[in-house]
Amino acid sequence: MKEIILCKYGEIALKGLNKRTFEDVLIKNIKRRLNPMGKFHYTRSQSTVYIEPLDENADIDDKAVEKLKKVFGIAKISRSIECEKSLEGIKNTAVPALEDTLLGAKTFKVETKRADKTFPLKSPEISNEAGGMILDAYPHLRVDVHNPDVTVLVEIREQNAYVSAGKEDGAGGIPVGTSGRAMLLLSGGIDSPVAGYMIAKRGVVLDAVHFESPPYTSERAKQKVIKLAERMAEYTGRIKFRCVPFTKIQEEIKNNCPEELFTIIMRRLMMEIADKICESERIQCLVTGESIGQVASQTMHAMVCTDVVANRPVFRPLIGMDKSEIIAVSRKIDTFDISIEPYEDCCTVFTPKHPKTKPDIKAVEAGQDMFDFAPLVDEAIENTTCEFIEAKR
Ligand code: ATP
Ligand code: MG
Repeated sequence: MKEIILCKYGEIALKGLNKRTFEDVLIKNIKRRLNPMGKFHYTRSQSTVYIEPLDENADIDDKAVEKLKKVFGIAKISRSIECEKSLEGIKNTAVPALEDTLLGAKTFKVETKRADKTFPLKSPEISNEAGGMILDAYPHLRVDVHNPDVTVLVEIREQNAYVSAGKEDGAGGIPVGTSGRAMLLLSGGIDSPVAGYMIAKRGVVLDAVHFESPPYTSERAKQKVIKLAERMAEYTGRIKFRCVPFTKIQEEIKNNCPEELFTIIMRRLMMEIADKICESERIQCLVTGESIGQVASQTMHAMVCTDVVANRPVFRPLIGMDKSEIIAVSRKIDTFDISIEPYEDCCTVFTPKHPKTKPDIKAVEAGQDMFDFAPLVDEAIENTTCEFIEAKR
């Protein structure tokens, strides 16, 4: 028995003239994920990519499906049984192969797509015939055309027929690589990995920058951030990850600036450094994991003070989300358990006792001007390290 995987597009199906460009990127991304698993053949037709194994190693198994579920641009995924293009073929090969799914269901319906218009029966006739065969083989089932437990899809294509039962949800979104490039400020917390996932879901290539302050922050804290990037890479593809040494800057903030402005000045310097890296790497926007009002440094006033130092848009995909909603996504993408590992972040090292929740931009600028940070900013950028992070599973 031969299985293939069908990946149905989401929004790409609605694209007009440039649909093909989106499809090309999607197929490239799928290939990159499946290549380590063997040789496959890819065909596209009717807003679906058909993935066929070409050698012994190329298994259409749960692992392949799991990987595909993390490729943006795919709305639905189903595994399909290939059989001879005849009612006999469907009866002898496909109907028994669907046993696991059909035994677990109470109701079903059959839908047919007939790409090969020379096939002697029309789609409704094929559906009727296949429905009859399924009822014969699984007498506990009932037909329900409105709200079935399982929809069996019969496709009559050029060479063969394909039969599948049940679809799984894909990752949605649009393919990474179709919407520009963003620099995510990645901490070790819960929020920023979710923000990165959300921006990549809209087709954006993700870069990341992390600020570390050794010895106040440990090597293990940095490793935790790298583990988060590895998890995100399952969805976003390879991430160019930079680590900025931030200790000196933080110490000078502490030594020279008003205490209630520590956090906001630190954020502005992070933003300035991230923005400068974007400039030299031609990255179009910045992304943070902020959500309005979540903590003292995430008020509207604070965001106004940080935005002005950036020369490009600062996107905050979580802006309107509650913490519980953010946590739900972080569990879904499997970053939550890493995020809650208890390592210090550079933000928490020099936290003021009474941070200003409504900082005034003029006062913040005056507070920051009490020290000349420009040489330290240049030095931090110069000493920034860079590595590529890949998905580990
Ligand atoms: P997170 O869970 O993402 O850490 P948070 O709720 O802890 O967010 P803050 O610590 O105030 O919030 O950080 C707000 C945002 O600033 C983060 O979402 C992230 O984008 C950025 N940020 C904070 N600390 C760092 C860091 N050490 N390196 C890079 N970016 C950071
Ligand atoms: Mg944090």
